[in-house]
Amino acid sequence: MIACFKCGHENPDGQKFCTCGAMLPQMAPSGSATSSIDLDEDTNYIKPTEHFPSAEMLAMAWALHDFLEEEGELEPFLEVYEGVKERLENYNTNLHQQSLEFIANDRSIDPEDTYPKQVQYLIVRGSQLSEEGITLVEKFLDALDQDRLEGETGKEGVAKIVQANDHFLLALHMSMSRADAIRAAAKANGVDLDKQMAESQSQ
Ligand SMILES: [Zn+2]
Repeated sequence: MIACFKCGHENPDGQKFCTCGAMLPQMAPSGSATSSIDLDEDTNYIKPTEHFPSAEMLAMAWALHDFLEEEGELEPFLEVYEGVKERLENYNTNLHQQSLEFIANDRSIDPEDTYPKQVQYLIVRGSQLSEEGITLVEKFLDALDQDRLEGETGKEGVAKIVQANDHFLLALHMSMSRADAIRAAAKANGVDLDKQMAESQSQ
């Protein structure tokens, strides 16, 4: 059985979509759990199909829109963008590898478990998209410094950063839903993980 990450409904193995319409994680995590980027080309990975609500992403997109279309100032855009850029670069440099190792660990616990691999796909793709997005926005800003307006490059860059954010948030959402499912399964078997966690932390 595969639990849906959106509604929790248990679906039979091999099914592609849940009754609620959400895509289900695909089976056959065949790649090795130790190499970091072993994404199968023939696996239909879960992808974000809608934008996660994010005030920051909205502010960044609108600030660019105002600058390009409404003759607004560049400052408001730069303010949001610099913060986003710093956070994404910090993730890519310091935390991405760690996340992949954590997932590799998770995958070796139960090779049949489809979730870690889907989450791995999302963070690998999110990381790529954020790098591509930042490169494009930097190109747009460099061109501005030379008095050239490359508006399309800026828009494309921001769109990629928004997509990267969607990938990271979906990964987080799936991880959290999964943690809830594990907690519920443990509880059904008489184990209270929250209590154990609290006890191990107070020692
Ligand atoms: Zn569902």
